[in-house]
Amino acid sequence: MKLVIIGGGESGVGAALLASQMGYSVFLSDGSSLKEKYRSELHEKGIAFEEGQHDMDKILAADQIVKSPGIPEKTAVMKAVRAKGIPVISEVELAYRFKGDSRIVAITGSNGKTTTTSLVYQLCKSAGLDVALVGNIGYSFARQVALKPHALYVVEVSSFQLDDIDQFRPDIAILTNITEDHLDRYEYIFLNYIKSKFRITMNQRPQDFFIYCADDEVTQQYISSFTIQSTQLPISMKREVPNGGFIKDGDMYIRTGNEVMTMSVFDFALKGKHNQYNTMAACVAAATLTIRKDKIRDAVQHFEQLEHRMEFVATVRGVEFINDSKATNINSTWYALESMTKPTVLILGGVDKGNDYSLLLEGVKEKVKAIICLGVDTKKIHEAFEGIVPTLIDTQDAAEAVQLAFRLASKGDAVLLSPACASFDLFKNYEDRGQQFKNAVRDL
Ligand code: ADP
Repeated sequence: MKLVIIGGGESGVGAALLASQMGYSVFLSDGSSLKEKYRSELHEKGIAFEEGQHDMDKILAADQIVKSPGIPEKTAVMKAVRAKGIPVISEVELAYRFKGDSRIVAITGSNGKTTTTSLVYQLCKSAGLDVALVGNIGYSFARQVALKPHALYVVEVSSFQLDDIDQFRPDIAILTNITEDHLDRYEYIFLNYIKSKFRITMNQRPQDFFIYCADDEVTQQYISSFTIQSTQLPISMKREVPNGGFIKDGDMYIRTGNEVMTMSVFDFALKGKHNQYNTMAACVAAATLTIRKDKIRDAVQHFEQLEHRMEFVATVRGVEFINDSKATNINSTWYALESMTKPTVLILGGVDKGNDYSLLLEGVKEKVKAIICLGVDTKKIHEAFEGIVPTLIDTQDAAEAVQLAFRLASKGDAVLLSPACASFDLFKNYEDRGQQFKNAVRDL
């Protein structure tokens, strides 16, 4: 069986390791260059690969293709593969096929995936389960299955991974929310992206569970148009749900079967309304895994904040600095503003994936005293907020942005980096942007 993997990042290389271990003849092809650690790993394992090109003869000789999530369908290589009709799967599908009887909690959604995945993992880990966290943080699912199998996998799954599943069936699926994102990969048709997200439930059976946010308009609107066989466990802050989780008057209630657990939201380690949703989803998953209430409470209370996600950096002369560099779309920044309690200097901008800034108007009017645009093209931000916010300044440098923000802030204010945009104009990635922001704060 000849298996060709397109793309040599963490998921492609993970897939290569697993497939070669399982006896496939493997060839990995990446159109650009590989990271050194992956190159040497492939060498070491004797796995054939190429970089900087696609040898179409070799690729089209495959019986099975594994497509990395970063490869769009519109690339020449994928078009040729599709034209020849070779079956294409994603890396999570491959891992699924070899996971044995281990269980899976899979998390998808437009925002909150990594946070919710980490929360579920922490809850399972502190309850003593044999669990691994895979996907975006740490190993790819395939690498984990190849190198260190566990009884339970908590998997973060993107819509791109879901596009190419076939049998992948999570015992527990979580859909955090759906807002417009990545439309460039879905022919600019929102419904295509929505369908892709709901694929997480596609193979579920009645004994499985589907946790989703009942307050999310898009999810709510479309859920009945999909055939979902699993037990649905909604979460809500707007109504009491008979099964699932809800928050009422500052208390969270988790109900699965006959069990009920309650906890005050003031005891949650992660602050902000968005994190209350994430925490609630994770608690429902944990309760479904029959983790004891005291273990759940303890883990929720002591969960450590994640880097670049509403991360408290420092207070400098009474000004608090928060790094939310991971906010790469409007929805994330909306929630970031929602959770601010102080007058805020907002650092915004970067590569805009079609943002509608008017969605931020209310939050900005209420809380933002100045906006610092950090990006190459800041025209849309000016158009949206000129006249709304008294001060709007452009910069193309993280350190300068921090210094300007510090000058504009008074004691008791906050400076929030929550750009609503991708970072590729001025930075390597969102981690680099967040790191430069933090370094600049520490240099003040
Ligand atoms: P993802 O992995 O889906 O990109 P993260 O957990 O990394 O999500 O969070 C990214 C950003 O999205 C955070 O900085 C936060 O501002 C925002 N966010 C987190 N959870 C939610 C949520 N449930 N709803 C809306 N926004 C959220």
